[in-house]
Amino acid sequence: MSFESALRCRECGREYPLDPIFSCEFCFGPLEVDYDYDGIRAAMSRESISAGPATLWRYAELLPCDPQYRVDLGTGFTPLIRADRLAERLGLERLWLKNDTVNPTWSFKDRVVSVAIARAREFGFDAMACASTGNLANSVAAHASSAGMEAYVFIPDDLEQGKVVNSNVYDPTLVMVEGSYDDVNRLCTELSADRNWAFVNINVRPYYAEGSRTLAFEVAEQLGWRAPDHVVAPLASGSLYTKIWKGFKEFERVGLIDEPQTRMSGAQATGCSPIAKAYKEGTLNFLPQKPDTIARSLAIGNPADGYYALKTMEETGGGAEMTSDAEIIEGVKLLAETEGIFAETAGGVTIACLKKMVESGHIRPQEETVAFITGAGLKTVEAVQGQLTEPLRVPANAEAFDEALGARHPVLAGAPAGGA
Ligand SMILES: *Cc1c(COP(=O)(O)O)cnc(C)c1O
Ligand SMILES: [Zn+2]
Repeated sequence: MSFESALRCRECGREYPLDPIFSCEFCFGPLEVDYDYDGIRAAMSRESISAGPATLWRYAELLPCDPQYRVDLGTGFTPLIRADRLAERLGLERLWLKNDTVNPTWSFKDRVVSVAIARAREFGFDAMACASTGNLANSVAAHASSAGMEAYVFIPDDLEQGKVVNSNVYDPTLVMVEGSYDDVNRLCTELSADRNWAFVNINVRPYYAEGSRTLAFEVAEQLGWRAPDHVVAPLASGSLYTKIWKGFKEFERVGLIDEPQTRMSGAQATGCSPIAKAYKEGTLNFLPQKPDTIARSLAIGNPADGYYALKTMEETGGGAEMTSDAEIIEGVKLLAETEGIFAETAGGVTIACLKKMVESGHIRPQEETVAFITGAGLKTVEAVQGQLTEPLRVPANAEAFDEALGARHPVLAGAPAGGA
């Protein structure tokens, strides 16, 4: 049972049947899934959701796919962590971290792929494909394996080892394209035209993108059925960010929360900041960039949902910030040292931008803020290697250990107090 009712053009509003199509024939606007919200309102309640599985399938009525086709690796319902130590360091009263590093392939992309592959199976596709900055490749390859489907996974040829291995281990047809993500995407768009493959972020993108709304559903439920004052989320294509806002509004529409007043803010790396730059210049028309940043998973120079992300900033009184590679590494370390979460570079972008937004006064200390940590640090170890405190290296005896510890931390060593 599913409550999707049609695809609708985001620009001109024309309706289309629920097919594997993604853009309007009349105005080339992107298509988005529309639902029978009255039906959902009648079918879903706080109680029925609470009784559901501890995965994103607890919101099945709000997903554009028949759950009987699901490929369930256990994605979603990830922890919302009260981050008091980080909040104190930043100067916030109430900060929460949505920890999406703990999904089956260690990034939020498992959410969008869960929906895309279920819909693709319902359409009858037997091959999955994607154009990826890394994390999507990991997730598509894993889910295709679990479903016994072929996978064709396209990535830029300069990705981190962790992301390459995390795709390759599932044995997809892994294609390293000479060029940037934007080149990969152009190639895949061309390939998708005459191949009967479900390209999750091309021909089934309208369904895929809806998976990100589950982040908003979970946060609202985990906060006790309400939306926060402020959200900080990373921006690549801008899809995740815009869908979080859509999710809050839909939860209100089906009667699960009061009207959300959330200010939506986005985070980018300075080396790939088309959306944040346009925001700062006060325009809704971003200029594509050639990415150059360690935050590879966010390195989309020509973001498909950039315009809608900028509209969301305007609508909600949010904003955007950008941050250097050095600050990204500091962000990864700050999160790890204060809250015990090891994020990939995209998480460093989010934390570094959050810090800047508090410092600039864009986020006020009293605003209850949720920051989205979307990928795990083991995917991008290169970024922090050589940037961390060297381990002590000692022979296996206590004296040698005490001596080494004393050399580093005189007050902690076994020597008598004041002896240093
Ligand atoms: C893909 C990705 C995002 C956001 O992607 P959008 O294209 O903006 O939806 C954020 N964080 C990580 C780690 C990602 O892999
Ligand atoms: Zn249209």
